[in-house]
Amino acid sequence: MNYYSTNKHSGEATLPDAVIKGLAGDGGLYMPKQIPQLPASFIESLPAKSLQEIAFTVAAAFVQDEVPASILKELVEEALDFPIPLQEVEKGIYALELFHGPTMAFKDVGARFMSRLMAYFTRNESRELKVIVATSGDTGSAVAAGFYNVPGIQVYILFPKGKVSPLQQKQLTTWGGNITAIEVEGTFDDCQRLAKQALADEKLNKTCLLTSANSINIARLIPQSFYYFYAYGQLQQQGRPVVFSVPSGNFGNLTGGLLAAAMGLPVHHFVAATNANDVVPHYLRTGNYEPRASVPTISNAMDVGNPSNYARMQELFEADHQQFSAAVSGYTYTDDQTRSAIREVYRQHQYLLDPHGAIAYLGLRDYLAESKSGAIGVFLETAHPAKFREVMESTLEHAIEIPPQLQVFLNKHEQFLPIKNDFEQLSMLLESSI
Ligand SMILES: *Cc1c(COP(=O)(O)O)cnc(C)c1O
Repeated sequence: MNYYSTNKHSGEATLPDAVIKGLAGDGGLYMPKQIPQLPASFIESLPAKSLQEIAFTVAAAFVQDEVPASILKELVEEALDFPIPLQEVEKGIYALELFHGPTMAFKDVGARFMSRLMAYFTRNESRELKVIVATSGDTGSAVAAGFYNVPGIQVYILFPKGKVSPLQQKQLTTWGGNITAIEVEGTFDDCQRLAKQALADEKLNKTCLLTSANSINIARLIPQSFYYFYAYGQLQQQGRPVVFSVPSGNFGNLTGGLLAAAMGLPVHHFVAATNANDVVPHYLRTGNYEPRASVPTISNAMDVGNPSNYARMQELFEADHQQFSAAVSGYTYTDDQTRSAIREVYRQHQYLLDPHGAIAYLGLRDYLAESKSGAIGVFLETAHPAKFREVMESTLEHAIEIPPQLQVFLNKHEQFLPIKNDFEQLSMLLESSI
């Protein structure tokens, strides 16, 4: 199966080409030419299947004969070697905990799958592969963990100065080895623009093999559809419509869910839940897409003003606002509402929401109350609350526990290269560090 660019000015690519390039030559994002369809018998069999079994079948539908089945099976099992529990928080409302991977954010799912697939596709490549990743907080460390010490691969993480939590910054800047952290004097959107510019730059692409590890890379998107099937399978026997609520920034996670639905998963409805950076909810309400500069919030991994995956969602809905808004409802919440939800859910249910999950929880609760559809719902819990320790502790007014997995980062020495929001500076840095 081939992959096409959402800008439609570049030719089609095979999966290995799409994964290695990251972004198409015309600046578009890769999408599968046809959305693979999974048979009803597969959907019916979900409750009896493990996460890894489900992931293998879904991955194989995208990968087809580009990776031998035995290697793909091993790859999926290695990438998903941690649990993704579904916890009932209150009646009919479930948290899908995506944060039990090594860096404790859902980005581990995509990054672990992508790094392994990329290593496989470049196994005969003699040039060094440079992976560029813009991060709003969690992507960078998940990608670093996925590629750390992989021979032949250099990773460059662009993070916005002063806009990630202290623990997130530790997780970005303390790796050393083949991981270089770059602090950009700007916002996440600036980092994302610089990364895209590097990928499209002819001169740079002559001297090295550049690729992107953001959710613009199709290899991160594919695995983000696996867990929708897995969660749905666990609720299927209740015989009620199932809604998914996704805390969204760049909308890669939600696009993974929309892909699952397009493949045949009978999801009743999706909720796109955002913080004050609400360009997509605004679009869903009005039909007008008006990207703008992002504003900082306490759910910082969602501070995105011009979400990349908007282009992919438009493809899935054939650029039809009516289709789009019939399948997805947008909800947006302030920092105060986020903090109240964290306090309230902890008090009533002893469940600790992180600021991102809290927004998805609110979106789900409000949608279920308004729609009166008799549906049950899953909100995606995308990070461990301890990653946002300062916000959590000031909200709850008591200390929270830091898991050992995160504690190891606290005493490490930070190292990063500061640059201005300037492509020339980045380009020189990428060329020089050979
Ligand atoms: C990245 C991130 C999000 C947003 O995911 P998108 O795929 O960019 O929409 C939400 N929550 C957390 C914790 C994240 O790290």
